[in-house]
Amino acid sequence: MSRSVLVTGGNRGIGLAIARGFAGVGDDVAVTHRSGEPPEGLFGVHCDITDTAQVDAAFKRVEEEHGPVEVLVANAGITKDQLLALMNEEDFSAVLDTNLTGAFRVAKRAVRGMMRKRSGRIVLISSVVGLLGSGGQANYAASKAGLVGFARSLARELGSRNITVNVVAPGFVETDMTAQLPQERQDEIKGTVPLGRFGRADEVAAAVRFLASEEAAYITGAIIPVDGGMGMGH
Ligand code: NDP
Repeated sequence: MSRSVLVTGGNRGIGLAIARGFAGVGDDVAVTHRSGEPPEGLFGVHCDITDTAQVDAAFKRVEEEHGPVEVLVANAGITKDQLLALMNEEDFSAVLDTNLTGAFRVAKRAVRGMMRKRSGRIVLISSVVGLLGSGGQANYAASKAGLVGFARSLARELGSRNITVNVVAPGFVETDMTAQLPQERQDEIKGTVPLGRFGRADEVAAAVRFLASEEAAYITGAIIPVDGGMGMGH
């Protein structure tokens, strides 16, 4: 049976791969896009996740089109890398506001319908650096670590309503986000990956689909790494 799936930041990169993956198994998929046009073949709603009113309006459009969101994937995220000594407060706050508070805004809105239905799946896209840390990414790593505490708290709050909340923590995946890194840094990172390569967006999408599937009904509050072995043990 097809489900109403919403993927934030689903217009490109990992989010697009996740959205296409769900569409490929027959779900009714909506994506939010902040800029540009929605991807071909997917239902797109314009939404900047730093704006609560836009989040609410986007959910209303999705509910009209596909019914209440049954699977939420909070994927939208940004980086504003800088060493702590040079990082200004705006860049720290902007990353937290998008990556962590953005997830709060969409999860809070999605849970309304899920609680009524007594069922739902929430998957938050964190990062291997959330628990490993990463020099020059204190804002980003803090936001991604924050998602873990957020997810696990929701898992406890919402378990009795049959809503699971899990985290997927990708390593380095080839997208626009990682293309920004200088080649030298990319090679350095590859050297720290046991599998010796960057990941693909569809490999992250597969883990998300699993967590949203019937087979994963007894998994909540978990962190699934998709990182080529980079973060082993966390
Ligand atoms: P991209 O930079 O390729 O895409 C980011 C997406 O997030 C875009 O769709 C972008 O929309 C959207 N977005 C950013 N800010 C907002 C906002 N305020 N409101 C709505 N949408 C917004 O990133 P990736 O695909 O690489 O990353 C996706 C997720 O995976 C992120 O959370 C990232 O932190 C995480 N991740 C990525 C890794 C990687 O190696 N690539 C590794 C680990 C985690 P728009 O097109 O409008 O800018």
